[in-house]
Amino acid sequence: MAILPIRQYPDHVLKKNAVPVEHIDLEVEKLIEDMGETMCAAKGVGLAAPQTGTSRRIIIIGMSGQEKPEQFIELINPQIIMAEGEELAEEGCLSVADYKAKVRRALKIKVSYHDKQAIQREMEAEGIIARILQHEIDHLNGLLFFERLSRIKRDLIKRRLIKRAKHNNSAS
Ligand SMILES: [Zn+2]
Repeated sequence: MAILPIRQYPDHVLKKNAVPVEHIDLEVEKLIEDMGETMCAAKGVGLAAPQTGTSRRIIIIGMSGQEKPEQFIELINPQIIMAEGEELAEEGCLSVADYKAKVRRALKIKVSYHDKQAIQREMEAEGIIARILQHEIDHLNGLLFFERLSRIKRDLIKRRLIKRAKHNNSAS
């Protein structure tokens, strides 16, 4: 297993539409293990494959409250098949360091996905877990959380992040 570097906005891989997984092979299994270790090390609650540089439709969600903090579940080719209600709550992202914003999301969702054994499953979620799922599935569609804000807020954050990325590049 390995801890992978987490890609930061405006890295191009974060803007791509990720490719569906057709076969769950050793490469996919290893990627999921590495994503788990990476999320745990970063103390994240969810992670999408593109954040680790691989443009494939895989997300993982941390199961907080469990005895083992490293426990997570993986969702391969996840798709939202039902969304209900609305909730405004604060979000951050491991690929957008030091920025948080209130984002409007569905309160309750149902997701269909494949597990590691390629079995088709469904998951219903509400509140924080529903929010994490929607945030991570957005990553598979090349969307970052601040792109769901009003245009003024979105442009302001983008300008600041691009400025910071340029500053960091010229400093290293
Ligand atoms: Zn994120």
